Amino acid sequence: MNIIQVIDYFNLDYEFDELAGVLVLKKGTQTLILHAGSKAYYYGDRTYFSSLPVRIETGRIFVSSEIVDFIIKRFVRKRVKWEVVNGNFVVSGRTLREKEVVSGRKGTELTTPRRRIDIIIIDPGHGGKDPGGIGYGGIKEKDIVLDISKLLQKELRRSSNKKVIMTRKEDVFVSLEERSKIANGNNNGGNSIFVSIHANVALDKSSKGFESYYLSLHPFGENARDVSEIENAVITYEEKPYADYLKEVLNRVVDVEYRKESMKLASYINQGIAQMVNQAMPNRGVKGAFFYVLKESKMVAVLVEIGFITNKKEAELLKSKEYQTKLAKGIASGIISFIDEFERTNGFTEGY
Ligand SMILES: [Zn+2]
Repeated sequence: MNIIQVIDYFNLDYEFDELAGVLVLKKGTQTLILHAGSKAYYYGDRTYFSSLPVRIETGRIFVSSEIVDFIIKRFVRKRVKWEVVNGNFVVSGRTLREKEVVSGRKGTELTTPRRRIDIIIIDPGHGGKDPGGIGYGGIKEKDIVLDISKLLQKELRRSSNKKVIMTRKEDVFVSLEERSKIANGNNNGGNSIFVSIHANVALDKSSKGFESYYLSLHPFGENARDVSEIENAVITYEEKPYADYLKEVLNRVVDVEYRKESMKLASYINQGIAQMVNQAMPNRGVKGAFFYVLKESKMVAVLVEIGFITNKKEAELLKSKEYQTKLAKGIASGIISFIDEFERTNGFTEGY
């Protein structure tokens, strides 16, 4: 059965990464993950097994009838009799609503608490044995991002009443897993935001500007894939092959529920920086990319690339205390605007 027909019939929300062979079905906080060539599929924290592996053929995704039944039960929540007629998905007979499920959902909607942000987690990239990018005159990414992160923490503590936590405060190595553990350990019920600070490198020394990334299954934007490859390269320091990590990560629940909010935070931060630095650096915009450190953080999460240390002019700006302070103020004002808007609209659900 081609699952895309089922998805279209019930108008379900999904993301399909053909390159990785991963299909993610989403509804509210529910997530189902299917992998090409695999009998295992993942729903919530649990792994299930189908009698046949998932097969992908030129944009069509074939799954066993058990998976179709599973999707209808969990995502459609109706009793549906279906059959395959000439290779087409056909619903036969009457569909019955399950009363308990419907009233149960209404109950939870009514008791949903107002959403607020309590904690801001700042994640200075790299550190210790991992210098990150090395730029003009030997400038190291790990040093620049730590300086700016410290200023950002100071600024946020001064101008907001939120708790501010750093994943590292000095020049030490912190693995990506430890970073997300720190983040998730301080997150109770998704009330934190996570901001990872990095600096860019490019072979082309004229590359310039700042940009912000939110997590996406589909990297997009100019060079988005390249950047995520560089930032994920830290995984090699942990002596595990990148591909294994990627698989392990994809096998877990994909936190697509925070994607929209992360996108908004990224755009607020970009605006904040643009206002403060006043065209000293161009705004390269908001992009989506696959970053390990963002993927594992089950909260609103953004990665900021503050400029190119391989560009002479930007490296010099990034080293200066004056520019670092402006940058920290810009990022802080973006974060604060986001939080104000988030709390005023109950997580962007009201007044839109
Ligand atoms: Zn970096």
